[in-house]
Amino acid sequence: MKKLIMSLLTSAMVLSMAACGSAPASGNTDQSGDFTTAVAGKLTMATNAAFPPYEYLESGEITGIDAEIAAAIADKLGLELQIDDMEFDSITETIKGGKADIGLAGMTITPDRQEEVDFTVSYATGIQVIIVTEDSAITSVDDLLAEGANHVVGVQRNTTGDIFTTGDIEEAGKGTVDRYSKGADAVQALKTGKVDCVVIDNEPAKAFVAEVEGLKILETEYVIEDYAAAMSKDNPALYEAVNTALQELIDDGTIQGIIDKYINAN
Ligand code: GLN
Repeated sequence: MKKLIMSLLTSAMVLSMAACGSAPASGNTDQSGDFTTAVAGKLTMATNAAFPPYEYLESGEITGIDAEIAAAIADKLGLELQIDDMEFDSITETIKGGKADIGLAGMTITPDRQEEVDFTVSYATGIQVIIVTEDSAITSVDDLLAEGANHVVGVQRNTTGDIFTTGDIEEAGKGTVDRYSKGADAVQALKTGKVDCVVIDNEPAKAFVAEVEGLKILETEYVIEDYAAAMSKDNPALYEAVNTALQELIDDGTIQGIIDKYINAN
C-alpha cells in the first residue's frame, strides 16, 4: 500500500511539473528536472567503509560491492557519485536529514529502520553467522541460545547482530553482549579472549577470519536477512528514480555481476 501511494504521489508530481512546465521552486534539481539530490548533480552515498567486501578502503579509496552498485545507479541517473564514510550508526540519521541521498552499507531491512527510512528493493542476502576460536566450546547457534548458557558475545554496535543478540541473549538472561564500533574490533576482542564469539554478517566474517589466525565460522546460520539501500521518506521522486534504476540493474544481471566479482571469485 505504501508503495502504491508513493508511486501515485510521484506521478502526480511529475504530471503537475509537466503541466506548469517549470522546475520545482527549491532544492537541487538534476538536468531532467524530476528529482532533487543532496548536492546538485551528485548522488551522495552514506556508508561505513569497514564492511568487506561490501565497502572497505583500498589504497585510501572506498571500494566494494555497494560502492560499485552506487556507481552504476549514479551512472544511470546521469549523476556523479560521492561517497561519505561515517559510523554505521550515523547512516540512518544522515539519510533522514537529507544530508546524503542513499545509505548503502550492507544494511538489513528491519521493521524499526523502516519507520525511519524507506528501503529500495533488496539487492543481496546477508546471513548472521557466529565466529569462534578454533578450539571453542560453542559449536552451534543452539549452544548460544540454550537455557543456562552464559557467553559474552561481541557485535558491531547497532547492527542486526547487536539487535538480535540483545533480544535473544542479553534480555533473555543467557549472556552478555559487548558492542564495538567496528566488526574488526569485535573480532580482535575474540582473538584476545575478551568475548567468546562474534555475531556478524557472513561476508565480512569470512574476510575477518581470513586475516586473523585461529578463528572459524560456525556452520549453523543464525538469521537470514535482506540488504537494501536506505533513502529518505521525504524525497519520493528520488526514491522512485533510484529504485527503478536498481531494479533495472538487478534485471539485466549487472548487480549479480558486481557481487560475483567480489564474492564468488575468491
Ligand atoms: N547487515 C547488518 C545490519 O544492517 C550489518 C551492516 C554493517 O555493519 N554495515 O545491521
